[in-house]
Amino acid sequence: MTIAPAMATQVHIIGGGLAGSEAAWQLAQAGVDVRLSEMRGSGETTPAHQTDGLAELVCSNSFRSDDAEHNAVGLLHAEMRSLGSLIMAAADAHRVPAGSALAVDRDGFSAAVTEKLAAEPRIEIVRERVDALPAAGPTIVATGPLTAARLAQSIGAATGADALAFFDAIAPIVHRDSIDMDVCWMASRWDKGETKDYINCPMTKEQYLAFRQGLLDGDKTEFKDWERDTPYFEGCMPIEVMAERGEDTLRYGPMKPVGLDDPRTGRWAYAVVQLRQDNALGTLWNMVGFQTKLKHAEQVRLFRTISGLERAEFARLGGLHRNTFINSPQLLDSTLRLKTAPHIRFAGQITGCEGYVESAAIGLLAGRFAAAELAGETPAAPPLTTALGALLGHITGGADAASYQPMNVNFGLFPPIEGRARKADRKRLYTERAREALETWLA
Ligand SMILES: Cc1cc2nc3c(=O)[nH]c(=O)nc-3n(C[C@H](O)[C@H](O)[C@H](O)COP(=O)(O)OP(=O)(O)OC[C@H]3O[C@@H](n4cnc5c(N)ncnc54)[C@H](O)[C@@H]3O)c2cc1C
Repeated sequence: MTIAPAMATQVHIIGGGLAGSEAAWQLAQAGVDVRLSEMRGSGETTPAHQTDGLAELVCSNSFRSDDAEHNAVGLLHAEMRSLGSLIMAAADAHRVPAGSALAVDRDGFSAAVTEKLAAEPRIEIVRERVDALPAAGPTIVATGPLTAARLAQSIGAATGADALAFFDAIAPIVHRDSIDMDVCWMASRWDKGETKDYINCPMTKEQYLAFRQGLLDGDKTEFKDWERDTPYFEGCMPIEVMAERGEDTLRYGPMKPVGLDDPRTGRWAYAVVQLRQDNALGTLWNMVGFQTKLKHAEQVRLFRTISGLERAEFARLGGLHRNTFINSPQLLDSTLRLKTAPHIRFAGQITGCEGYVESAAIGLLAGRFAAAELAGETPAAPPLTTALGALLGHITGGADAASYQPMNVNFGLFPPIEGRARKADRKRLYTERAREALETWLA
């Protein structure tokens, strides 16, 4: 069948949240027609949305730090502004006082995005639920963490059920350079000296018992009503639930010390916390088996009682939430196309990025990539040294596919700065390098 020319240049975006709205805007600015399918407004909703507005903020009204000199998300704001982001323009126009953070009037923000998109002649907003991945035609799937069930099934069928998650069971992730390697050591269990893949943190009996008590007593976040019914797998069980099962359950589970000789004593410790490399750069390490519902402040306090982690800086803290996302490092190419069906791109939180700004940023890139492709160009990804490029690189291959979990933008995703520099200086060096790289990319 021949596709009519008008249809061949139209991009179908599914989902009018942060990512889908930004992608639609970028495409329209590039002269491409868009069909934007959003199920809210057709009698459907998600468990978290309250309105029919596009780009509704489902929880906090904060876009986090707006400091483009010292903060990775602030830098991402700046890069998105320089690429004509609608989400950033609407956020700036509806800013409310929040110190150095960018917080917005959520109703004004969503209304501004909805009005701008509705007024754009190239965008047709259709209030409809889409139940299956389109078999043909350029498509961007941006249905977010609460993707409707039938479409999720269709995505599962296209990607392999194992590659689609319904929960993020996040273990805390630590910046490698904040771990005290005079106390911790590199080794694999029963290590014979060939591979030393884990960072190991030893614990005495007293430390272990106090730590377990801390898990039992710690302040925890409750599941939302609609999350209670989504079962989590035994493999994703929160560490505090394991601690409740018995005094030694953790020592026979994620904190097993056997086969790990502590080089300082030549013996096995009473318990061991292991960290595994989380990104190709080796800058981020996740605490194996430490997914948790402990409140964030409690996690920082308790995890810093672990030997070698006293000064740990966390790239992200642990959590367990309902969240539909695909295994992007395995499934997507470098411009967000599904490798097995390249007419489909994914954008937003469903790719495994995390947060309003990150979701919009990936929507922005998906829109620009799709526009470039329709113009007969080869889409070029932004350099890895930019915030956009670092986030995209993580999603599309930098992250370890086996332990892939949603991630906010942070400097741990950037290629490290060569040489020694103070922490404060290092952040500035990252942002300076990013600015130059983005200018070159845009030139
Ligand atoms: C409960 C909850 C709280 C969160 N709180 C925060 C927070 O405070 N701060 C933060 O930065 N991030 C938060 N997030 C994470 C995330 O940043 C947001 O979910 C963000 O909105 C993701 O953007 P998105 O565009 O990928 O998805 P969404 O903004 O959710 O947009 C997806 C859109 O797709 C539509 N849709 C779904 N399925 C279909 C279908 N089959 N057909 C048509 N339309 C469909 C939905 O109605 C929705 O409008 C939260 C997530 C959840 C679930």
